[in-house]
Amino acid sequence: MRKLGLTRPIDLALHLPLRYEDETRLVPLADLARAIQPEPVQFEATVVHQEVAYRGRRQLLVTVEDGGERCLLRFFHFYPSQLKQMAVGQRVRVRGELRGGFGGLAIVHPTIHAAGAPLADALTPVYPTAAGLPQAYLRRVIAASLETADLSETIPTEFLARQGALAAWDLRRALHFLHQPAPGASLAQFEDHSHPAWQRLKAEELLAQQLSQFKAREERAALRAPPLATRRAGLPEQLLAALPFQLTHAQQRVGAEIAADLARDRPMHRLLQGDVGSGKTVVATLAACIAIDAGWQCALMAPTEILARQHFTKLADWLMPLLAPRGLRVAWLIGGQKSKARAEALAAIESGRAALVIGTHAVIQQQVRFRRLGLAVIDEQHRFGVAQRLSLRQKQVEAGSEEEPHLLMMSATPIPRTLAMSYYADLDVSTLDELPPGRTPVVTKLVSERRRDELVTRVGHWVAAGRQAYWVCPLIEESEALDLRYATQAYEELGAALPAVRVGLLHARLPAAEKKAVMDGFIAGAIDLLVSTTVIEVGVDVPNASLMVVEHAERFGLSQLHQLRGRVGRGTVASVCVLLFALPEGGHLSDTARARLKAMAETGDGFEIARRDLEIRGPGEFLGARQSGAPLLRFADLTLDRALLDWARHVAPLMLARHPDLAARHVSRWLGGRSDYLKA
Ligand code: ADP
Ligand code: MG
Repeated sequence: MRKLGLTRPIDLALHLPLRYEDETRLVPLADLARAIQPEPVQFEATVVHQEVAYRGRRQLLVTVEDGGERCLLRFFHFYPSQLKQMAVGQRVRVRGELRGGFGGLAIVHPTIHAAGAPLADALTPVYPTAAGLPQAYLRRVIAASLETADLSETIPTEFLARQGALAAWDLRRALHFLHQPAPGASLAQFEDHSHPAWQRLKAEELLAQQLSQFKAREERAALRAPPLATRRAGLPEQLLAALPFQLTHAQQRVGAEIAADLARDRPMHRLLQGDVGSGKTVVATLAACIAIDAGWQCALMAPTEILARQHFTKLADWLMPLLAPRGLRVAWLIGGQKSKARAEALAAIESGRAALVIGTHAVIQQQVRFRRLGLAVIDEQHRFGVAQRLSLRQKQVEAGSEEEPHLLMMSATPIPRTLAMSYYADLDVSTLDELPPGRTPVVTKLVSERRRDELVTRVGHWVAAGRQAYWVCPLIEESEALDLRYATQAYEELGAALPAVRVGLLHARLPAAEKKAVMDGFIAGAIDLLVSTTVIEVGVDVPNASLMVVEHAERFGLSQLHQLRGRVGRGTVASVCVLLFALPEGGHLSDTARARLKAMAETGDGFEIARRDLEIRGPGEFLGARQSGAPLLRFADLTLDRALLDWARHVAPLMLARHPDLAARHVSRWLGGRSDYLKA
């Protein structure tokens, strides 16, 4: 329950059913057969046949019959007791999703009970749950929570006056309605989220979110940061003169937005978003130059060692010639560093000689003490937990300063503009909407696993022509070990199939030194084909790598696929991204998997991808609180519930001003311990 965030009675009360099951009636199988519905059905029938078959894998097949109609029940996992329960001649109650087709009616993994048991007298709520937490238990504790939780009204009547439905359905009534459906209520009434009970909950949730955002904004307005003004002919100009390219218009515009923020005496809180390859790093480097020029330090934190190292190599290359004459340097901090190198870096950071510190989350560890941290940059910010982002800000305060560092976050997963503006009252957003010139668009192909051999041959040709390629294996969430085995197997297979190709293997559990060796080998061209797990996902930049194969692409999220694809198309050669997909058991991709692959094939534009991702996943998950363990929005949908969002945005500042106590109660009820997180 803690994992699900269900610690207080109110958390339980706000844990709403995902859906309901109608277990109140039985429908004759013959009627069901006439009009097959996607919802689960319930009927009773007699077992006429049972066998354990081997069709690809072991399975239990049971045929039941009622009123002259037959249905096949298929089980891939089963217990000996089920063989007895479904012995030929038994009458059983079957519940599941009925499918029709040439083979006749069938249900995969139905729930089976003995026939004749009493039926439910009201709809049964089905709650989101976790392994080991049974529905029956959840139902019981949630019902109890409705009695014990404080459900009193927190929204002042003045804000509800012209909102008829919101006023009539206060929290208590809405929750009772949704958790405890009255006998005889229809499914449609509950599942339609436009019902006033749902509207009320969405409105409450959005209000809590807006309140905490406005509050954070208010608090931030009271904070102080060092004003970092841009000097003429200073470091930024020197860097620009030394770069081998000109900034794009977008980079110039965004650079100016950041410079204006830095010059203020309030901490910058800005998200720099831009598609993969849009050139965010150089913009961040310019910001770092401004801070350094003003006599402050800058920290740049990246989510993976590979990415941090790459930043270090590039930025040290750019900046060392400019910093060295001033007695300054770039320092480097990662987890498994040699103690001597680490001690040296820590000393340089503490003395202030390290003007720029680049590293992984090692940068936020306790022992790291900055002399004067003026700017913190977080690359691929969505990959960090919120607590980690907060602690970078804390560094200056730890040092006993009244001032906070400016904060620049970067992300290649853009938030659609309307969403950013309305949802994040406390965040300024800069957008790089232009790619540097000379990029060739990546051609994306969907290829079925059945054509794998053909594809492997093509990879051989690709490499024979002097080009490099990535082969990405899926992250198997349940098991890191399985993950590894998968990548290792692909590595061995590809090596055997393509003897002329130099294959390398990269995965998260390689020791740092080996990771570096493999990556360096790939960058230097000593490795032609890099087999890896998704560790290469973020930021890696090898222009000669122009082919990417993603295995089991159907298992990846859309933004992840887009990030991966961004690793190719970085040079001038035409690049190809092959999304290799396998059909799961049953032969169908899920609707969302299909929508994701389709989106990838149809567009290369990160903003369009983000828009579709939002459509496919819904904003709660989209906004990426997965790392912090709690989705930011559970009920409201920012695209569909615009009217409610507008209401919440209007009400939040008024409520903070006129009813601060109620506002605090409301936020704590809805966000509990998480409200702090919204500030990061
Ligand atoms: P991302 O936004 O994905 O972090 P990077 O900052 O890694 O992208 O930039 C991608 C590549 O483009 C890098 O090799 C970088 O040096 C190069 N680059 C950045 N800006 C420009 C520009 N204005 N003109 C040409 N190349 C650029
Ligand atoms: Mg980057």
